[in-house]
Amino acid sequence: MASHYDAGGHRRDAVQLGTARLRVNVVPHTHWDREWYSPFRSFQLRLVRLVDKLLGLMESDPSYGRFLFDGQMAAIDDYLEVRPENEARLRRLGSSGRISFGPWYVLMDEFLVSGETIVRNLQLGLERAAAFGGAMEIGYLPDMFGHVAQMPQILKAAGFVDAVVWRGVPSAIDKTAFSWQSPDGSAVRAEYLPDGYSAGAFLGADAKAFVRRLEAFSEKHADFLMAGAAVLFPNGTDHQEPQPWLGRVVAEANAVQDRFEIVISSLPDALATAPRSGLPSWQGELRSGARANLLMGVASNRVDIKQAAARAERSLERLAEPLAALLLAPRDYPESLLQIAWREVVRNSAHDSICACSHDEVGAAVLERYAEATRIAEGVVGRALQVLPSALSAPCHLAVNPFAGRRSGVIELILGGKGPIEGAQVLDERIGLAADLVLTTTEVRAVLSQLGTQDQMGDGAYVAGVEVAEDDTSIAIAVRLAPERSKDLPIEQIKSDLLARFALRPDAQVKVRLDQASSRRVLVRVEDVPGFGWKAWSPAPLADPVTATTGSDGTLVSNSLVRLEISPLDGTFALNGLAGFNKLIDSGDFGDTYNYSPPEHDLVVDAPEHVDLSLIESGPVRAVALVERTYRWPQHIDEARRARSGERAVVVSSRIEVRAGEQLVRVTTSFDNTCRDHRLRVWFPLPEPADHSSAECAFDIVERGLIAEGGPSERPLATYPSRRFVQAGHLSVFHEGLSEYELVDLLEAGEPGSGIFAAHGLALTLLRATGMLSRLTMLNRPLPAGPVDPLEGPQLQGPLKMRYGVAIGVKNPYPLADVAFCDLPVVSSLGGGKLALEASMLSVSGAEMSALRRVPGGALEVRLFNPTATTTRVELRSGTETGLDPHAPGALLRGQLVDLRGRHVADFEGSFELGPHRTATARLAEK
Ligand SMILES: [Zn+2]
Repeated sequence: MASHYDAGGHRRDAVQLGTARLRVNVVPHTHWDREWYSPFRSFQLRLVRLVDKLLGLMESDPSYGRFLFDGQMAAIDDYLEVRPENEARLRRLGSSGRISFGPWYVLMDEFLVSGETIVRNLQLGLERAAAFGGAMEIGYLPDMFGHVAQMPQILKAAGFVDAVVWRGVPSAIDKTAFSWQSPDGSAVRAEYLPDGYSAGAFLGADAKAFVRRLEAFSEKHADFLMAGAAVLFPNGTDHQEPQPWLGRVVAEANAVQDRFEIVISSLPDALATAPRSGLPSWQGELRSGARANLLMGVASNRVDIKQAAARAERSLERLAEPLAALLLAPRDYPESLLQIAWREVVRNSAHDSICACSHDEVGAAVLERYAEATRIAEGVVGRALQVLPSALSAPCHLAVNPFAGRRSGVIELILGGKGPIEGAQVLDERIGLAADLVLTTTEVRAVLSQLGTQDQMGDGAYVAGVEVAEDDTSIAIAVRLAPERSKDLPIEQIKSDLLARFALRPDAQVKVRLDQASSRRVLVRVEDVPGFGWKAWSPAPLADPVTATTGSDGTLVSNSLVRLEISPLDGTFALNGLAGFNKLIDSGDFGDTYNYSPPEHDLVVDAPEHVDLSLIESGPVRAVALVERTYRWPQHIDEARRARSGERAVVVSSRIEVRAGEQLVRVTTSFDNTCRDHRLRVWFPLPEPADHSSAECAFDIVERGLIAEGGPSERPLATYPSRRFVQAGHLSVFHEGLSEYELVDLLEAGEPGSGIFAAHGLALTLLRATGMLSRLTMLNRPLPAGPVDPLEGPQLQGPLKMRYGVAIGVKNPYPLADVAFCDLPVVSSLGGGKLALEASMLSVSGAEMSALRRVPGGALEVRLFNPTATTTRVELRSGTETGLDPHAPGALLRGQLVDLRGRHVADFEGSFELGPHRTATARLAEK
């Protein structure tokens, strides 16, 4: 402890005066957005300079004792890509505890990606940090735009007891720490950064100025500080380089005053001595704008990126991993390909990447990464399904179910023959064709070389038979084409035989006769396909057909569950008698990528000028009505007048689809967006007025009321994110990447809490088209949230397509969410194998699935969650099909429950209990 002298030269000592000095933990760090207002490669150049300086500084100056590397490992990998020779230096500083690495791979947005992406991000970060002396065991969440309710449970499942948060903390929390609980009761201690992660950024070299800053900071937050707690003073901000004078300034600051005991600290050291009892508590998500802006409008910014995210996550989590895990032998599991795909998805989950509050070049890179991940997933699905055609016991067409529960679904097939088929809807018929061609051997060679080893000569046209005859002048080839692949056709042998004949008689005339049998493209419904299994289709009467008619008074589509009437007046539809679905509301958006904000003089267009109705398909398996509405939307916002200006006629097409036996009404809305600075929402009436919504979030369904909490830096809008569905007032809305919704149309008579405050409609945001990364002055947010840069990408000019669906009275939305925008994969088999035509490969019941995959080493791993308020029993059984599985059919499976780091938690034999809102990861024992 130092002695200090005041201005008059009198010696003062804090302890002797009886006033213990207030400890200040200065935590040097940088916040590294790997792409944002510059593209990744530009920031990477700055990163290399930063880490080069950091290494030199820490190795030469022991007083610069600690550095927090932003809680993420991606920046380290990005650095080592350029400076691989410095890995050992980083490892030394990590192993000695001077640099804190991880635990995340990137600092993700928690609402706009799946729970599984959050978990994979954490697992990848932990794995990479292990190579540098281990991860910092703190859920460091410094800049996320709010926090999901299940985050404490995720952190606990990785063995963490601490989180650090800033945005989203509500006004009810009045201390710098609180107990943050998930809906299942899992709690972590959350350290709250009242001034954010930049509170101690840009510390100058002047110790007295530093002390004055500390005084101002501690006085401002005096009421927030718990008794006995130290001040946490993060020294760093976005992309800030280390300040080499820090050690000297801290020493000098300690010498010139006795109010503070200032220490350069690591985050783990700072939290190790923090008070843990008597904390205020909070259960659930953190989405308040009370003290820091939440930037809620990112959910509806760059909807193209959110759609790409939804497709990529679905194809990896719901299709590629489960199908590869179940259909491929463990040694064939494409682990490294899936790792590449996941790394791209995890990189994209970084808050500035998925939120797309970034430059256009960044948006393009994010889309490219999602496209790559999706291509890998689709390729893996194709490979896994290839196992089936030769393994089944009879020729058939199969619907494959990659989901845990039984699913029914409509599939499309090409069948040989002519005319109607029981229970099927014929989409088009290809009548038998015969063509005679006279060609040279050179021309036929060219065709053969293009065909390669394929037997396919077009959509639904496979070579079924080839006959060759020769006479003095010509070679005659008769080719028979069939809609289905023929078994054991020696296509390679036929080709080499032909080439040999051509070589002997290069000048011969080649007479080719093509005979194509009749075929039909049909839709059929396959009922009750076993979970993680398949079922062959066979012609049968359709249990609940759909019918459709259209006339001057509208279009009527119905099955036994759905009665849909489309109005010729405005193109909206009534669902089971409730009118007004699919109403489009276009208004101005003078906001930016972070926030919606209306112009001072808004103009709302909610009625079309002209409506055309037609029927594309009229059942019995699928009915599709087309609604084409012509709107006159303002073209842009005039900056000077702050009003919408100009005019464009825009034709918006909605393809409205009802399927046999299904209560979900699917809508695909598409248009060419030629207007700028606007928000387009689709509105649905609620069957019952609602005072809350229930939306899918990571590993749960989260309930929210009708209002939000704002603050001086952001107006509270009750626009909320949902992942695949949101429910309110007995209505369920499903969507593909349309993450933002709002309960609207509030009763004016009521006030919050009066009991009659209710919403009558749900608005789903289809797009927000804006032109600024961040804007200076906005009605909804007074200060900028990033660089004030004009952008073109967020205007989303060009063709757009949005998919959503509605259903009334759905109790459990998860099964519908799986199949709403993902048809069951189809496989055609020629038979010859052993597998049954209806089978399951694994049976998992009692909870919702998040993941099914093989972990390195080959074990099957299942991650499940219970989104309900009651305890459930999860049961795991072997499937009915033993050809792919060494267990007895239907046998109870044993294994162990593990945490998110794969560490043993408990053994189970066949089943285990899962409490309300709990998640579990189960690894099955190999037999
Ligand atoms: Zn950030």
